[in-house]
Amino acid sequence: MFVGHYGPSFGLRRASGGVPLWVLFLAVQLVDVLWAILIMAGVEKVRITPGFTASSPLDLYYMPYTHSLAASAAWAVIFGTLAGLVWGRRGGVVVGLCVISHWILDLPVHVADLPLWGDAHKVGLGLWDRPVIAFALEAGVLFLGTAIYAQHARGKLAVWIFAVVMLAIQTTNFVMPPPAEPPQFAMMALSSYVAFAAAAWLVEKRWGQGLEVSATAGVTRR
Ligand SMILES: [Zn+2]
Repeated sequence: MFVGHYGPSFGLRRASGGVPLWVLFLAVQLVDVLWAILIMAGVEKVRITPGFTASSPLDLYYMPYTHSLAASAAWAVIFGTLAGLVWGRRGGVVVGLCVISHWILDLPVHVADLPLWGDAHKVGLGLWDRPVIAFALEAGVLFLGTAIYAQHARGKLAVWIFAVVMLAIQTTNFVMPPPAEPPQFAMMALSSYVAFAAAAWLVEKRWGQGLEVSATAGVTRR
């Protein structure tokens, strides 16, 4: 899953208190950001096998430090705690939930390559082999989050256009030739996470949720 991960970022933005959307964009992809770094460092492993699944050429055969349930939960606690220092408990909890949501949303689409802990007991429901269902799920999760976010956005149309553009970018994955080498792919993935977070910053600044309803301080203009 790629853009579907951003559903929780949008959907939980308001509940977070004051955590910016771009931070939540990075949080939902945190384990993939770490994955890209560890692939480039040669610690985690991926093979690029065209046709490995109908939706993705990635044979993700070794990723215990980022995509095991245990590791994902640990990253969620670590980053949730750090975020809590900046944005308070509510914000920290939401950041933690966003981090762990990545594994939960990867579960239906990945083949059995997601370990429960270490490199063992791998799970995955394999919807990537049913591209239409996988795509519908991805779009559904993204748009559900977008709908929740847009309710309180200043520029609802702009927010929706942003979500649709993200989904459109995702569809180019189907027509683009598969990446040649894992490090190249990891670099590309990493750049796209940063670019999407930057876009989220811009979209929120211009068209996003302007009024923060803080649990303790009432309504404050941000
Ligand atoms: Zn992932």
